[in-house]
Amino acid sequence: MSKDPTIGVLALQGDVREHLVALAESGATARPVRRPEELEGLDGIVLPGGESTTIDKLSRIFGVREPLIELLRSGLPAYGSCAGMILLADRVLDGRPDQQTFGGIDMTVRRNAFGRQVDSFEEDVALEGVEGDVRAVYIRAPWAEEVGEGVEVLARVEHGPAAGKIVAVRQGALLATSFHPEVTGDARVHELFVEGVRERS
Ligand code: GLN
Repeated sequence: MSKDPTIGVLALQGDVREHLVALAESGATARPVRRPEELEGLDGIVLPGGESTTIDKLSRIFGVREPLIELLRSGLPAYGSCAGMILLADRVLDGRPDQQTFGGIDMTVRRNAFGRQVDSFEEDVALEGVEGDVRAVYIRAPWAEEVGEGVEVLARVEHGPAAGKIVAVRQGALLATSFHPEVTGDARVHELFVEGVRERS
């Protein structure tokens, strides 16, 4: 692809601005997406950190849920951080009773998995596909409790009581992290995503 890929950020709730900045730094043309018609012409989409139950609810109100699911099924590349990871999961533990996800990644995530005492936690992790460690900032973060055969595990918690838990995955064109690279000023995870989008376009 010669021209920069156009990547949307689902802008119903959450840290949309931070993702727009990180995408622009990664060589993408980034724009917020709220309405179904704004999904048109995208080469990829980011589902931001925030509150997955709220984003789920608003996606239905704005009518963006069904067309987005359709696009994900037909191969639109997506990257979800934290709440976005939950939204890309096929199954959720500790969700709200009426909570739904968009799905796409064959995994079971546990919401707020690090426990109530550990609202936020930071560490450096090795992430497959990125050279050097990445600062992982977990804020009421999920982890993947179980992943299907087609899911590549890209990173695991390295320190503390949660060591070994899966915190970054990829399945086909879908990428998800428990942590928030968009808040660290380091765009390498977004670059990894944008690179994948370029390869697929
Ligand atoms: N706990 C939030 C949820 O369930 C995710 C938190 C985050 O995105 N920082 O959606």
